[in-house]
Amino acid sequence: MNGNLEIDLYEARHVGGRLATVTIGNNTYEAGGSIIHPRNMYMQKFVKLLGLDHVTSDEEKIGIWNGDEFVFKDSGCTIVSFIQLFYRYGFQVFKLKRDVNDVITNFEKIYELQDAGKYFANITALISAVNEEFPKWLQIPMKDHLLHMGYTDRLIDELAEAIVVVNYGQDTDIQSFVGLVSLAAVGSELWAVKGGNKEVPENLIYRNKNVNVVRSRVTKIRYTADNSDSQQYEVTHMNEDNTDPMTAKYDIVIIAAPLTSDQEFPIEFVNFPEGLEFPGRYQTTHATFVKADIKPEYFGLQKSLDSIFSCNPTKTIISSVSRMVSGSNKDSSPVWKLFSRKPLEMKLIHEMFSNVTEMRTFVWKAYPHYLSNTLHNSFKLHDALYHVNAIEWIASAMEMSAISGRNVAILAYNDFLQKHGLMQHKEIPKDIPKTRLDEL
Ligand SMILES: Cc1cc2nc3c(=O)[nH]c(=O)nc-3n(C[C@H](O)[C@H](O)[C@H](O)COP(=O)(O)OP(=O)(O)OC[C@H]3O[C@@H](n4cnc5c(N)ncnc54)[C@H](O)[C@@H]3O)c2cc1C
Repeated sequence: MNGNLEIDLYEARHVGGRLATVTIGNNTYEAGGSIIHPRNMYMQKFVKLLGLDHVTSDEEKIGIWNGDEFVFKDSGCTIVSFIQLFYRYGFQVFKLKRDVNDVITNFEKIYELQDAGKYFANITALISAVNEEFPKWLQIPMKDHLLHMGYTDRLIDELAEAIVVVNYGQDTDIQSFVGLVSLAAVGSELWAVKGGNKEVPENLIYRNKNVNVVRSRVTKIRYTADNSDSQQYEVTHMNEDNTDPMTAKYDIVIIAAPLTSDQEFPIEFVNFPEGLEFPGRYQTTHATFVKADIKPEYFGLQKSLDSIFSCNPTKTIISSVSRMVSGSNKDSSPVWKLFSRKPLEMKLIHEMFSNVTEMRTFVWKAYPHYLSNTLHNSFKLHDALYHVNAIEWIASAMEMSAISGRNVAILAYNDFLQKHGLMQHKEIPKDIPKTRLDEL
């Protein structure tokens, strides 16, 4: 490659994709991916590298609601909240914290492996490398796994369910690995990027001089199969105005977008010897922002909480409602963010809120619809055709896309060297030298 690397990055809409912000009143809020775990090392390093800042939320009063009553309400103070959790779920809350901590500690091995230049062709190999047990978790529903680990129905049906509903819009029948990842949010100091999480991908892309952003949607990737060593993939793309399709040829193609058939910008694969199939679907999440005053009585409360999480979304219709920020003065209403699986009718909004002055809804194909028998296992779809978002089938999160992006970059680099005989001739070591992220 000798510094001659040229990258065309096709983007159908906005760089940042599922990271986006919305402005309501004078404030800007995360409309897509919003919270980051403190142990997400790549997101932490990106923020440092780009000179961005963190924002954390104040202590919040939260409640878990089943549509009839609050099964749990906390005080907004960390110590008291923990006592309240203990009162409801007993010693299991300590066990949960320890078990989830073990999952994170195991998964963190991926950073060491990647720094040492290790790469994986598929998901099973990647998660086996951090813990041999993890591939089995992809086959087990979260609820069965938690029961097997000794957790009670009460903890699973209330606490675990509410967390999975707010994080992934789904229930505890999702595969167990993503379920345990989502529980990592409990009791952690979650953060976001000041100015919007989308600042990270935007800044990373625009500061890389090798990347040429092409505002166009890819419609087709054709394997030319002409036996020549390079430029074996022809990419067809179209501008927003749907004028004549254009084509370009490449040595390597990396797809960094979901590939299920329900996506807005589907890609057709032509002439590949083994058919490429992407089963399953993405979960639709409606994120609705309402500038209004909440009616606590709708929820059977005297005074409102900051966040209400549903552990029975079939009954409650909403998955969660959270106060974003207070109005700038006493006369101004706060902004609330609601997640739901279906569009919210105005009648329901008026039952929950008074003084509605502004409302915006985003409809996302948000994350995979997780079942224990669907997996897009391969990062490598063909000789030099790669798929970053296969990782989402273990767990969808900003950090996971960063881990997968790095894995695919190392994989593609090594495949290229091997294919062109550069490993032997130039005596490049099999494992590429140690790299630190801030040197890249
Ligand atoms: C409502 C919601 C809440 C979430 N909450 C969190 C959270 O709190 N924490 C967290 O870590 N994660 C969260 N996530 C998940 C997180 O946002 C995603 O995992 C992550 O942003 C995926 O990034 P990506 O770059 O891999 O994919 P995307 O962001 O989907 O990027 C793919 C890009 O490819 C473009 N594209 C697609 N097809 C084509 C085509 N044919 N041609 C050209 N361009 C194309 C798209 O326009 C898009 O810009 C949430 C997601 C949603 C929607």
